[in-house]
Amino acid sequence: MSERLMVVSAHAADWVWRCSGTIAKYKKMGAAVSVVCLTHGERGESGALWKQPDQTAKTVKATRLRESTEAAKFLGVDEFEMWDYPDHPLVSSEEILNRLNDKMRQFKPTLIITHDWHDDTNADHVAASDITFTAFGMARHKGVPSQCQDTTGIVQIYGFEPSQTERSGYMPQVYIDITDVWDAEQYGYSNKYFFS
Ligand SMILES: [Zn+2]
Repeated sequence: MSERLMVVSAHAADWVWRCSGTIAKYKKMGAAVSVVCLTHGERGESGALWKQPDQTAKTVKATRLRESTEAAKFLGVDEFEMWDYPDHPLVSSEEILNRLNDKMRQFKPTLIITHDWHDDTNADHVAASDITFTAFGMARHKGVPSQCQDTTGIVQIYGFEPSQTERSGYMPQVYIDITDVWDAEQYGYSNKYFFS
């Protein structure tokens, strides 16, 4: 069975610089990839945009959506969704858990990557990790209401590295060798920006 990789990101840019190399690797292997951004990150991760005059939350969100969508297209992501929950704070709710529960049942991931629990620098990332873990628990059980009657299998959830690893006490246990997809030129692009 081919792999089905699902990535859940707190903000628009998190997934790009934390696991785009892994996504490229899985796409090269023929995997299906789904990326869900829970928020645009318009409040906490868009500082440079807010320095420009006449910015509004609407224009910032439009920019973040465009950037993240371009990255997803570049990498060949099969399903990309930008959900419109507020960031800072990203708060878990019945609505977001039900929605992610539905999404997981529909996509049927064979592995999931999201933020690690150990991230002392950003509460939204910890919230995203908790939301993903809780929604996955819901998606596994037939008795939990959902638009999709199927359940997911039991799969491994991996937490990607936080920005300040030592401060968060993060101990990597799995390393992905992405050297075979490092050179974006093999895809016909000269821009290596997305590969990190
Ligand atoms: Zn973030």
